[in-house]
Amino acid sequence: MTTAAIKSFVDVAPTSHFPIQNIPFGVFRRKDGEASIGTAIGDMVVDLGQLEAANLLRLNACNGRPLFDKPSLNSFMAAARPAWREARQILSLLLRADHSTLRDNKKLRDNAIIPMADVQMILPCQIGDYTDFYSSREHATNVGTMFRSKENALMPNWLHLPVGYHGRSSSIVVSGTDLRRPRGQTKADDAPAPAFGPSRNVDFELEMGFFIGPGNELGTSIATSAAREHIFGMVLVNDWSARDIQKWEYVPLGPFLAKNFGTSISPWIVTLDALEPFRCPGPQQDPPPLSYLTPSEDFSFDVALEVLLQSEQMPSPQAICRSNFRHMYWSMAQQLAHHTSNGCNLRPGDLLASGTISGPTPESYGSMLELAWMRTKPIELPGGETRVAINDGDRITMTGVCERDGLRIGFGDVTGKILPSIV
Ligand code: CA
Repeated sequence: MTTAAIKSFVDVAPTSHFPIQNIPFGVFRRKDGEASIGTAIGDMVVDLGQLEAANLLRLNACNGRPLFDKPSLNSFMAAARPAWREARQILSLLLRADHSTLRDNKKLRDNAIIPMADVQMILPCQIGDYTDFYSSREHATNVGTMFRSKENALMPNWLHLPVGYHGRSSSIVVSGTDLRRPRGQTKADDAPAPAFGPSRNVDFELEMGFFIGPGNELGTSIATSAAREHIFGMVLVNDWSARDIQKWEYVPLGPFLAKNFGTSISPWIVTLDALEPFRCPGPQQDPPPLSYLTPSEDFSFDVALEVLLQSEQMPSPQAICRSNFRHMYWSMAQQLAHHTSNGCNLRPGDLLASGTISGPTPESYGSMLELAWMRTKPIELPGGETRVAINDGDRITMTGVCERDGLRIGFGDVTGKILPSIV
């Protein structure tokens, strides 16, 4: 199913993120307003509700009960991995060039396979809870160096547990949603008192996130070895941040309003099965983690990531960061095990994000805070503009793609613009 040789009867450009081997899941809205679960192939969207209604997508794993006649993926996420795999197998077969069932059913095809350009992507599920980790050693070291010192860059706990905090799900938005510059309380180092007003230091954070499948009961935990049964799939995440608000508010309980004014995600959830050819070892962990965090297998993924910025003056976007998900120190399996180690329950559709993904080299730093090194090294843009933070009208776009042996599995992108603040 993941060999590059399999082709679909739907045209897929060589540069597409969505060949027949990907089969991501998302939710889209047609022009008439109806929302449906879909998959992406090339530039087309396949309406899974239509295929289910035509009895082509009834899963044995769920005794044929309907899963795709809904405007969100929560039920399918809860149905667990056997259902996810069966759905991918059926869709992979239905979309094959050498399989006639859908290919030769013109009426169903015309109804169920529609141009991506004619639909609007919406949030893929109801996200009950959102947790944000801080799992890139390079990012934590950079930030620690800036705010403390090189010697004390990592806090004493950092190499022993995946540090995280509870975010807010209500302000998670799908790619394409523009956000207003947040207002908040800030205090300049030399100012006698704090002030309230629009943030002057809005930043992006390059992250990836994963959605929870069946989840766990309160009072139980999930072992690292069970991660595949619990991770439905991954998306790109831009965890917008207001650095000036964060700096003043975060002591002692951590980030609050600096983070919850908006978090953008890419609309298509790519499954771990699609990413399997790109699974790879993560960084060596020293000291070895405690036994409940010991990995049972390699659980990193080779996803090339890019961040692009386009100002109102620029005719096209410019890449300002190139990183890779494989740099993450703590894996998704470890984050999952740690999050549930105290008996905390996770529910279908919960989102857990990685934290900013910075790599070892300056061009791989996953935030403007690091790229412009605390406003001391402005980022130069074509046309002569420079940036140390995001200006009004700037569009930030993130992409992610895996490539090997002619196989290309991508995430599409997550894009959004910062609009002037409310006054
Ligand atoms: Ca973050």
